Amino acid sequence: MELWIQPCAPCADLYGQPSSVDPHDTLTLIGAGAVKDAQVEQHYTCTRCSAAFARIFRGEPRKQVWVLLNAGQH
Ligand SMILES: [Zn+2]
Repeated sequence: MELWIQPCAPCADLYGQPSSVDPHDTLTLIGAGAVKDAQVEQHYTCTRCSAAFARIFRGEPRKQVWVLLNAGQH
């Protein structure tokens, strides 16, 4: 399933930011109870534009960022 979305402005801004940056107002944490290790990665979805984010807490510092999972890149 592919569901490419056009991110809203706050999502476009958040993409690529360090994971230490707080989520904006329309981002909702999903699967919080289901994620085994929330210290490693959290998933959010935006109620405005349906963007899906992964907030990465592991690995090299440069990889600990907000990753936009379903946005068109081009
Ligand atoms: Zn959004």
